[in-house]
Amino acid sequence: MNIEEFIRDVPDFPKPGIIFKDITPLLGNIEALRQTVRLLADPYRDSGVEIVTGVESRGFIFGAMLADELDVGFVPIRKPNKLPAETISESYELEYGTDTIEIHADAISPGQKVLMCDDLIATGGTVEAACKLVKKLEGDIVGAVFVVELSFLPGREKLDALGVESHSLIEVNGE
Ligand code: AMP
Repeated sequence: MNIEEFIRDVPDFPKPGIIFKDITPLLGNIEALRQTVRLLADPYRDSGVEIVTGVESRGFIFGAMLADELDVGFVPIRKPNKLPAETISESYELEYGTDTIEIHADAISPGQKVLMCDDLIATGGTVEAACKLVKKLEGDIVGAVFVVELSFLPGREKLDALGVESHSLIEVNGE
């Protein structure tokens, strides 16, 4: 089964010039979805991962399923003012302006082995900020996994600069 067939290109969403990689057809096919989660897990089955994180909101779906596949817990990273207990936050640059994400201050223990997960890496700004949150909590990031990587953007380089290895299932080379 080729999971790429379950990713739909939606041109000009959310704004002109962006080709949105829509993963909802993948979510709708349980065999393709399970295969995706197994492939995301494969490089990390024997690496002692203790926690998977996912960024709101598509990262919740793949991250939670990946945590189940690896038999570990899941930590949500959210938009501001969504998490109820004490949080720490990190801001990052967007094309216009900045965005902020938060994690519960007690979500990760020092030294805990953490695997980062999101549906897609584009510029890498989101996952870079997520990694900084985990590092502030002294988590040990073992890697980052994505269903789709827009490899014409410098996302992977951002992770390399942080010393975080990354794996993606589908690489998109052109715009
Ligand atoms: P970035 O911070 O630039 O790496 O963007 C990654 C985040 O934005 C992920 O959470 C993606 O879900 C979303 N995203 C960015 N570009 C796209 C795209 N072309 N199609 C779908 N989602 C995208």
